Formats: sequence, structure tokens, C-alpha cells
Amino acid sequence: MPLISSTDMLQRAREGRYAVAAFNVHTLEMLQAVTEAAAETQSPLIIQSTVGTVKHLGPDYLAAAATVAANRTGLPIALHLDHCTDFNLIVKCIRAGYTSVMIDASMHPFEENAARTSKVMEVAAAAGVNVEAELGKVGGVEDDIVVDDRDALLADPDECEAFMARTGVHTLAPAIGTAHGIYKGTPNIDFKRIAAIAERVAAPLVLHGGSGIPAEQVKLAVSLGMAKMNIATELRIAFSDAIKQVFASRPDENDPRTYMIPAKQAVKQLAIEKMQLCGCIGKAAQLR
Ligand SMILES: [Zn+2]
Repeated sequence: MPLISSTDMLQRAREGRYAVAAFNVHTLEMLQAVTEAAAETQSPLIIQSTVGTVKHLGPDYLAAAATVAANRTGLPIALHLDHCTDFNLIVKCIRAGYTSVMIDASMHPFEENAARTSKVMEVAAAAGVNVEAELGKVGGVEDDIVVDDRDALLADPDECEAFMARTGVHTLAPAIGTAHGIYKGTPNIDFKRIAAIAERVAAPLVLHGGSGIPAEQVKLAVSLGMAKMNIATELRIAFSDAIKQVFASRPDENDPRTYMIPAKQAVKQLAIEKMQLCGCIGKAAQLR
């Protein structure tokens, strides 16, 4: 099965009141680990990369690896570009084979955000690619995008409705109190706001900053309309910690195949836990 657009996948998730887990990967082993997690649990999967990772590995390498994942497993898998502010890079990724892109123009006023999103919608429509946009500002650090907590603005439900009418974007990431990175305390998620946005927006909603949100809060957010949950930081911590453990006990280890095995296993295990939390386990069959 080739890579697919995430539009249908996420619409079904929203209708079915579950979320698809979207994992930021940085290496081939991380990509393999989340794919194995999806295969073992028969879950739909979104593999995503930040702009930094696209620049680090190359969109063609990432698209080729994700294509192999989809072909080998026969699972519904989408390859998504996370938080991109650069129109040209979005086009480059679509040409390389990405089936979903996020245009993050949330730092601009409403009109400018809508105009930039609409421009991406035009090129994506021709390629059958899903588009995600953001309203409000998600706090924290995501690669080279840094949003101070005091600057993190929550999305306004009426503006969300107007934004959808204006752009027709497939998926919307409204800022609702989550942040990128690991939370210092309990995240202050505005569930009433999620409900108000979901009432006005029929499209799948995207939960950013999914690392470390308590299980019951994730479940509540998903039940209210969040149909995609992004997990980045937690995954790379699991990957790196497993490697650190190998070197702590065997400082002379020099075979990447050896220390990548526990790292891959740690990512796979965590990915399965997140899929359970999202409720997407076993949902691959309906998308085939
Ligand atoms: Zn994000």
C-alpha cells in the first residue's frame, strides 16, 4: 500500500472518537520502531518530521523510508511535515512524496495566516495532500520555533470557525493550553475551549505537545474532538535514554547495531502505549 493522505484517516478518527498517534522521527530506527508498533497493533500511523529533521536527513530519504514502511506493512500510513513556515520547503516535501503538510503561520495575524494557508491548500489540492494549519500559538520549543509561555495565545472558537470557512483547511491545530517539550507541572488544558471549537469545526482537530499529558486528560481531549496527537519529545528521550544506558554499562561499545536495538525497542514500546491512549489500536482495517 502506498503512503496515503491523512485526511480520510483523521476524519474517520474524529467520527469514531479516537485519535491517530503522530510520531516525530529523527532516524531510520525511530521510523522503523513506530512502524513496527503500528504493525503489531494494526493501527493507522502518521510518521512526521520537523523542518529540522527534513534538513538533517533530506525529504527524499524520509519519503523513501516511509514508503517502504507502508509497502511492507500494508498499513494506512501518512508522512507529515510538522510546523513548516516556509512555502518552498512545503512544495519540496510534497514533490518528494509527503502526503500531509502543516503550514504554521500562527505567528501572523488572522488574515495573513488564512492567506498563507490558502496558498498551501492550492498546491496540496493538486497533489491530494492533507493540510494542517494552526490558530493561536502553542507554547514551548519546537525545533527553531520558540514561543514564550506568556506569548502562547489560545485559539478563539469563533475565529476557528471563520478560519475554516475561509481556508477549507483539512485539519486544524488550535492552541488550547498544551505546550511543546516536557511539562514542568500538569498542563493547563482548556477543555471547555476544545468543546467550543469542536462544536463549530467539523474537521479533525490536532493536539500538539502530546508528550507527558496525563492519560485521563488525553482521553478527554480525544473524546471532545482531537483526532491526531503529536508525540515528539517523549519519543526522543526514550530513544536517547536507552542508548545512554548501553554506554553507561559498556563505555567501549562501538557497534551502532548493538546500541540501536534497545533504543528502537524503547521507542516501539512507548509508541504502543501512546496508540493505546489514543484509542487507534485495531483501526487500520477500516482504512484499507
Ligand atoms: Zn507542534
